[in-house]
Amino acid sequence: MLDTKMVPEAGTARARIIEGGKQLVQRGVLSRSQHGNMSIRLSDGNHFVLTGKGTLDHLEPQDLAVLDLEGNLVDGDLDPASHEIVQMHAAVYRKRPDIGSVVHTHSPHVTAFALASKPIEPSYEALVRFDFTEAVPVAKYGPRGSARSVANIVDVVGENTKAVLLENHGLLAFDENMDKVIQSICVLEEAAEMIILADAVGGAKPIPRELLGETRNRRVEFEQTGTQRAHS
Ligand SMILES: [Zn+2]
Repeated sequence: MLDTKMVPEAGTARARIIEGGKQLVQRGVLSRSQHGNMSIRLSDGNHFVLTGKGTLDHLEPQDLAVLDLEGNLVDGDLDPASHEIVQMHAAVYRKRPDIGSVVHTHSPHVTAFALASKPIEPSYEALVRFDFTEAVPVAKYGPRGSARSVANIVDVVGENTKAVLLENHGLLAFDENMDKVIQSICVLEEAAEMIILADAVGGAKPIPRELLGETRNRRVEFEQTGTQRAHS
């Protein structure tokens, strides 16, 4: 059983995941099946709350389970399809102690890149403004949930990686909190769609490498300035 100290926090994480699932559905960034899975790490660092069914619409508190970082179930239920993907989440938490949330989707345009085994290059400015200054890498194919697929994901997760394309499968995105992960999924899906559209008119051109840092810093500068108001 879960340590009683962690129970209230697990409840908050469950509520956040239910809300996050609704946000992804409303923003239209999921595949038609609404397939995906989402998790949040608890503050003890050693447990996470994970969706226990395969779709992200109409999640209920009883659809969420608590696991430890080895992938052992400590509270709640997981259906067989969810059990397969536990290690995909646990491996990211083990490799990156800074990561607080992991989300997997089949966002259609992003998944088109995963099927084509092509990294998503940061040619769309919005991507760079959300700190995607490197191409989103492709993790080589391994059957869903297999040790091979998990090892291939771990191989391409560097210290600043925030998303990985799962070859022939979909997207895995992660960050310090779920808000940031949802933001990443939305901007990646938008970018992937734009890049595919650009292919019809000659293909997306890269942003000059020497300007990538400047592009990202402009967002930070504007954020620091805050909201500007006209003086009456
Ligand atoms: Zn999947």
